[in-house]
Amino acid sequence: MAERITGHTLLVSLIATPIRHSMSPTMWNESFAKNGMDYAYLAFEVGNDQLEDAVKGIRALDIKGSNVSMPNKQKIIPLLDEISPAAKLAGAVNTVVNQDGHLVGHVTDGTGCMRALREEGFDIKGKVVTLTGAGGAGTAIAIQASLDGAKEIRIFNRDDEHYATAVENARKVNENTDTAATVTPLEDQEAFKKSITESDIYIDATSAGMHPQEDVSLLDDPSVLRPDLVVFDVVYAPAETKLLKFVRENGVTKAYNGLGMMLYQGAEAFNLITGEEMPIDHVKQALGLD
Ligand code: NAD
Repeated sequence: MAERITGHTLLVSLIATPIRHSMSPTMWNESFAKNGMDYAYLAFEVGNDQLEDAVKGIRALDIKGSNVSMPNKQKIIPLLDEISPAAKLAGAVNTVVNQDGHLVGHVTDGTGCMRALREEGFDIKGKVVTLTGAGGAGTAIAIQASLDGAKEIRIFNRDDEHYATAVENARKVNENTDTAATVTPLEDQEAFKKSITESDIYIDATSAGMHPQEDVSLLDDPSVLRPDLVVFDVVYAPAETKLLKFVRENGVTKAYNGLGMMLYQGAEAFNLITGEEMPIDHVKQALGLD
């Protein structure tokens, strides 16, 4: 490291809190070293109270770009100069690109998910999607899937504080894209199951399956599954959620966890900020994920 960092080294940051557990510094610094790029990536513990000063710091220090995570993904929007169409629709930014002092906000969670699916040979264009969840992940996925040409997105959310966001996401999709979006309470189990039988893909963008909900799967009826159904769970720890175990045990072979989405949201941000490709295989190896 002492040999690698010089007076010429460029900085990329991550601003969020809590942030010390993040895998992003390893992903980015391993990528810089592997690609021979004169950059460094550092995580800064920044919450809403320090956000405005942090954004001023990005400009003042000519930090080349920044990742943004909770609790700053929404709050950063008015502090930037330009917002990408997807980030505007999603109402969230996870990547800032510093173009000579002009700060542009992007969101790469949705593009990361779509790229992870493409890498598995699945193109969302023209497809019917059943989607559970309307939090940060569900919103980014609904928006990107529609921007990428999904035919229909049928959103199901339980009757909690995220239901209104699900309604809002469907409205944005219907008003801004050619995709037809609907919202139904997840409590309507008959409608949920029927939707899965009619869909090309079921995406679970809820925190069901992740600690402390390891024992929760929103789907438990094997009769709605078909061997050609694609199932994508945004959760990647544990690597096999209760949902993925259940569908695999019942003949679904195209069942994927959220690891690809996590890696490719980073890869998309890396490309936006540096113009280079993240060496994904090397990153997986560095994280002990292959
Ligand atoms: P959030 O808190 O913003 O939203 C949570 C969503 O899950 C809401 O729609 C809520 O209604 C739903 N939900 C939670 N528990 C449920 C249950 N028992 N039954 C039905 N619905 C339930 O969270 P988020 O930021 O959108 O994250 C959701 C999950 O996605 C988390 O597990 C997170 O770790 C994961 N995630 C993964 C990636 C990735 O790159 N793979 C990226 C972002 C988030």
